[in-house]
Amino acid sequence: MKLEPPSNGETPALDVLVVGAGPAGLTAGMYLARYRRRVRIVHDGSSRTLWVPRSRNVPGFPDGIIGADLIARMSEHAVRYGAEIAEGRVVEIVRRENDGGFRARLEGGATIDARGLILATGVDTNLAKLDSGDHKTAVQSGVLRYCPICDGFEHSEERIAVLGSDLHGAAEAMFLRQYSSDVTLIPKWQVALTDAQRAELEASGVGVLEGRVLRLDAAGTTISVTLEDEAAPRRFDILYPAFGSTPRSELAAMLGPLTDPNGCLPFTAYSDGLLPGVYAAGDVVAGLDQISVATGQGAMAATRLHNWLREQEGHVMADQK
Ligand SMILES: Cc1cc2nc3c(=O)[nH]c(=O)nc-3n(C[C@H](O)[C@H](O)[C@H](O)COP(=O)(O)OP(=O)(O)OC[C@H]3O[C@@H](n4cnc5c(N)ncnc54)[C@H](O)[C@@H]3O)c2cc1C
Repeated sequence: MKLEPPSNGETPALDVLVVGAGPAGLTAGMYLARYRRRVRIVHDGSSRTLWVPRSRNVPGFPDGIIGADLIARMSEHAVRYGAEIAEGRVVEIVRRENDGGFRARLEGGATIDARGLILATGVDTNLAKLDSGDHKTAVQSGVLRYCPICDGFEHSEERIAVLGSDLHGAAEAMFLRQYSSDVTLIPKWQVALTDAQRAELEASGVGVLEGRVLRLDAAGTTISVTLEDEAAPRRFDILYPAFGSTPRSELAAMLGPLTDPNGCLPFTAYSDGLLPGVYAAGDVVAGLDQISVATGQGAMAATRLHNWLREQEGHVMADQK
């Protein structure tokens, strides 16, 4: 027996609202549609996968796949089985008092009611600012990179610069050292490393520059970095800014104190849920920010939420509860 929709004359509630149409949200939507749930995926068009020039670590695509093509395929897949996809920015989510479901409000004022929620809202990459050259073009051509795990392999033995000389930058430089013997760590403002950390980098063959960066210029197949007190710019084949990312967890925070000190949602959010009827998946969850991880968590969140809804509907064996 299915729960009755709200009897106040409003549009019947969806079974599930998924916020986010990246790999996590689209996988969750496709699974839920195949569980014959009424599901809508709402997104504001900013999946990070849309930035990926060509990903070569998505299983099943040995020659790589362009990020926008992957999103198009995943969207088609979800829609094929009955998921609705709509563009819009969700600005508020509240729990409905009368039936324990949720109400999302979109920019512009429209509302969506749903019995369950999946938050697959991703993160915002903290970007480097170029003084010349277009940022998007530099990412598409591969001179500006943001994810060593994703594409370090493609830059074996090239001249790699990592921008940001705190521990995060140092760790990223050390990671990239696996791919190239020419890795240089460049401070954004000043080097914030202990002597021991510097010695570790030196022993591993990672160069550390001291001067403050004055300019970043991307042109064609190289990127140049001009440092204070240096007349000529230094040229690199690739620059990885190591500025981290900012989780888009503001909607989750409206439902309760659910984020960790970094603004991430707990790692178990895709399996154990955040609250009854609320799951999260993908980059917004603490852990490894990767397409494969996002799809796996999307599948898990969808299945757990479907089972939770079945339990509400009395469609599980008593021993399963
Ligand atoms: C340059 C670059 C290259 C990368 N290359 C690779 C690679 O080769 N391999 C790999 O595995 N990973 C790669 N990644 C990482 C990969 O893109 C992410 O791990 C992946 O996109 C995470 O999926 P997600 O669904 O969690 O989030 P996202 O894909 O970022 O999707 C988040 C979704 O939430 C929506 N959203 C957020 N807030 C709201 C709101 N309030 N209202 C409505 N919609 C909202 C957005 O519109 C978007 O649809 C790369 C990332 C970058 C930046």
